[in-house]
This record gives sequence, C-alpha cells and structure tokens, in this order.
Amino acid sequence: MDFIRVVDSFTEMSNTRRRLELTEILVSLFGEAGADLKKLVYLIQGKLAPDYEGIELGMADKLLIKGLSLISGRPEKDVEELFIREGDLGLVALQIAGGKSQNTLISQKLTVQYVYDSLIRLAKTKGEGSIRNKIGLFQDLVINSSPGEAMYITRIVSGKLRLGVSDATILDALVKAFADKDQAAGIEEAYNFHPDIGLIAEMLRNGEVSRVLEIGPAPMIPAKVMLAERLHEVRQILEKMGGTASFEYKYDGLRTQIHVKDGEVRIFSRGSEETTRNFPDIVKHTVETFSCTSCILDGEAVPYDSETGELYPFQTVSRRRGRKYDLDAKSKEIPIVVFLFDIIYLDGKELHREPYEARRKILESLFVPDDHFKLASRLVSSDEDDIEKFFEQSISSGCEGIVAKNVSADSVYRAGARGWLWIKLKRDYQSKFEDSLDLVVIGSFGGHGRRKGTYGALLMASYNKESDTFESICKLGTGFTDEVLFNLPRKFEGITSKDKPARVESTMIPDTWFEPVHVLEIIGAEITISPVHSCAYGIIEEGAGLAIRFPRFTGKWREDKTPEDATTTSEIIQMYKLQKKGNVGS
Ligand code: ATP
Repeated sequence: MDFIRVVDSFTEMSNTRRRLELTEILVSLFGEAGADLKKLVYLIQGKLAPDYEGIELGMADKLLIKGLSLISGRPEKDVEELFIREGDLGLVALQIAGGKSQNTLISQKLTVQYVYDSLIRLAKTKGEGSIRNKIGLFQDLVINSSPGEAMYITRIVSGKLRLGVSDATILDALVKAFADKDQAAGIEEAYNFHPDIGLIAEMLRNGEVSRVLEIGPAPMIPAKVMLAERLHEVRQILEKMGGTASFEYKYDGLRTQIHVKDGEVRIFSRGSEETTRNFPDIVKHTVETFSCTSCILDGEAVPYDSETGELYPFQTVSRRRGRKYDLDAKSKEIPIVVFLFDIIYLDGKELHREPYEARRKILESLFVPDDHFKLASRLVSSDEDDIEKFFEQSISSGCEGIVAKNVSADSVYRAGARGWLWIKLKRDYQSKFEDSLDLVVIGSFGGHGRRKGTYGALLMASYNKESDTFESICKLGTGFTDEVLFNLPRKFEGITSKDKPARVESTMIPDTWFEPVHVLEIIGAEITISPVHSCAYGIIEEGAGLAIRFPRFTGKWREDKTPEDATTTSEIIQMYKLQKKGNVGS
C-alpha cells in the first residue's frame, strides 16, 4: 500500500471528530491494506508494536531539528525558531518538504512497508554511532516524502502522531471490515487479554475470527485487569449478587499483575505498563515462593511493616514506581507485601473462564502466606451485620473498603471490564459526597498574581465511553502544593496542542489545550447542572451538562490510569442521580 494513501486518510481523520466517520475512514483503509494491515494498524496508533514489547520511537526534538536542518540546508537555529513558532515539528517538516528543490526530490514512492521497516530500524538502532544513524534514517524518509508524508512521519518519529483514534475505534473498524457485529464483544475481550491490535487485525484479515474469539490470557503478555462497579450500601450489593457474596478487603496500593514463565518474572501495572525493574524484591520472592512453571497472578502491592503488620499509604509505593536507581536500598526501606486475590493462568492452563471460587481455591493451594505474599482477607456471607463489621475491620486495618465478588458458577474473570461481578464499597461513599473522581486534564488557564508563571486553574474532563470523547466537567484550581503547581508547565510540556485536541468536547476555551494524557484524583462538594460544561450535555437537562462544584486535587496523580480509565460520564450521571435521591450528599 502506498503511504500517500494512508496520509490522505490521516488528513481526512483530522478533519472530523465524529467517531462514526473516523470508523468509516478506517474501514475503507483496512479494506485496501492487504498484507500491510498489521503494520498499518500500528502506524495509526503511532507505534511499531504493542507497548509490552518495549519498541519505542520517541526520537528527541533536538535530533529531529538537526535532521530537518540537514535536509533543508537551513541553520539549526532557524529550524528551532520555526518549531517554537509552529509548536509542532510535523508542521515544520511540512514546510521544509514543501520547499525542497527539484533536484533533491527523489522519486522513490514511499510504501507502508518501507516506512514501517525504516522506522523499526530507527527504533532498534543502538550503541555507538546510533544518533548519526537515526538521523540518517529519518533524513532518508523525509527526503523521499511529499510534504504531507513528511509531516506525519515526523509526528510518528517524535511519538506525537495523535490522530485522536483510540484502540476502541480501531477495533470497531476491524470488526466492521472483517467480522460480524455480534462478534464485537468477543473480539474486544480477546484484545483485553492480548492487547496486540496488529496481531488481532492480521488474524481477522486471514479469516481466523474463531481463533481470535478463543484468545485468552498468556504468560508474559499483560492482560487488562478486571475492574469493579461501585455501590453505596451492603444491602444493594447483596441484592445484585443474589443474596451471598465473597467480600474482600480493598487494599490501597498498586494493582500488580505478576507473570511467571520458566523462571522468568515480569510485573505489569493496572495500565499494562511494565514495572518489573521497580520491584526487584517482588521478582525475587516470586521465584522463591511459586514453584509452577507458568502463571499469572493478580493482586495489590502495599507497603507493609512486618513487625506491626501496619499497611502504609499508597503514596509511599507510588514514589517507588518511578524510581530508577537505588532500588534495592528502597525495597529494604519500604518492604512490600502483595495481597493476591486472583489467578488467571497456571501451568499451561487458562483459568479466566473458571468461576471465582475455583480460582480462589487454586490460588490458596499454590503458596503459604508470609511477609511477601498474602491472600486478600475475605468473608463469604449473606449477613448484612457481619459484612458491615468486616467493612469496619478493613478500614481499621488501613484499607479503603471492600470489594464484593460474585460466587456463582458464571463468575468468570473479565479482562478490562468494569462489571457487576465485582462491586466495590468505599467508606467515603457512605457518608457525604466525597467520592473521589479520576479526571483528565484537557487545558489550563493562565495564572495571575502569586500564580504568575504557572496556571491559575486546569480544565478537567470525564471520559465518555460511548462517544470515545473527553467532556469538560470543571475548572480545578485548589489542592495543589506550590511545588506541584510551579512544576505543572514543565510536566505538561510536549502535550500542549494549538487547537482543541481531537477527542475533546468543551465549549469552555482554556488558554492552552492539552492532549488528554494525565489523570488526577479530585474530590468535590457535589455534582451540579451546568450550562458551561459538556459532561452529559443534554442528558439530565436540555441545554446543560454536569459539573463538579468546589473540586479539589487530592494530591494523587493517577499515573496508573490511562485517560480511558478515568471516571466515565455515565458514572457521573449515576452519581448525580444517587445524590439527588439523597443516598449521597445527605
Ligand atoms: P479506585 O480508584 O477506587 O482504586 P479503580 O478505578 O482504580 O478504583 P476499581 O475497579 O474501581 O479500580 O477498583 C478496584 C481496584 O481496587 C483494583 O484495581 C485494585 O487496584 C484495588 N483492589 C484492592 N483490593 C482488591 C481486591 N481484594 N480485589 C480487587 N481489587 C482490589
């Protein structure tokens, strides 16, 4: 497939925000891609492989400026100035490629395969002379590009393609192109267990839909984790669960998926990010504790004082996650215990379709709890009073509440799904509206007075799963320490956008737009009807959306969450209705 065909579609995509139109553009592109489909799908994501393979592009701006300067014959300083003016190296490349003189135009037509293979070489170039080689490969691509091709190649190479096409939309288009509508849920589930969209695309194109529907968990491939719905009363939970359920402590740490295969251990976070090197102690203890040849364990890692049995707050572990050096010293300082609550694979056997009770039994038989691995405390009960007591016990042990798990025969493990098989109950839901929400930063307003040089407020959004967009819900200006506040402009460098980003819905115009990347935990006083915000616009009231009143940052960056994991618009609607009924806010 010619790369210019892809570029035309990219341009079409950037002219629409409607999910349906985006899907249609993708469907026709996929229909023409032939054997290039797999590579094409990765390029649309701005990637070369699934994240867990660790093949990264993200060439530094400085190197790309050097490359563009060499191509154009213009001094680096000029290219840099152009970059500052345009704010996007893609646009700089567009101008430079547009101004190429005839004799530098080499008429080699770029194909998807050629572009992809060059980018793979570029990403894999390591060691001595690698910088020169990387610049050389980039130059070679741009020299052979039309202006539009140069723009998109530069954006891909810099890790900033940002077409506004989510994985969910790509999957939708793949289903439309190669499968039946009623297979969509099964294909999504396969992707959640094996998040390699290129692989799934290729199998679907080869007519292997039934094989795709069979895909389950596999060791060393991070499965998306199962999530819980939320309710506010034990009684409601028991009703939903059919009278009896297993109630487990809800530990406040880091979701940890541990993979073992032939003595090797890999650890993944809630967002499928590999965190193995941040937890050498967990790796070591896994090898010592589990004698199986392969397994996938699910649990929560919590800092723990083995003398007193006390659990420490999340932040202590969170600091560790980003820490690159001195890990051994750190693990002695903050020992970690992993509370295991699930197992989805053991010694060549997929367990995700086994019921919860059976999985728990297997997990219990696999190890003897000690200071490194424990089983999540649980109570199987149908008695409201006993469950309330268990809830209080969990809070006094330093937990956030409880997670109820369905004990029926069809209580399977649903990767990446938030469903009613697991229901969480947190303390703050029970009293007043202090539900914490995880919202996405989409913009900022300039600071004045004491806040000069940083932002006065951030524009926050919820995630609308149905339309795959981020809808403005409040301006957030409180709860920041000075240190965090003055660091914000640096933190958001590289995600600013000249125009409203593709999947953002907001009639409020901030001074600066941000690509939806960062997720912050906030609490608020209540949810109110708002004529200025886009969250749930027109759903509760005509001509109005929903907003959070008096939002405050809790200090927690939800780095373990992708923007699509943020609180959804339908959750906000549900909370608003509960609040109106008086269940919350009284
Ligand atoms: P929150 O922001 O409340 O932590 P979340 O959005 O990260 O929630 P939820 O599905 O709402 O995720 O809540 C489940 C989370 O609770 C899991 O991701 C996990 O990190 C944590 N957790 C702690 N203990 C348990 C347990 N026993 N079973 C399941 N999840 C648990």
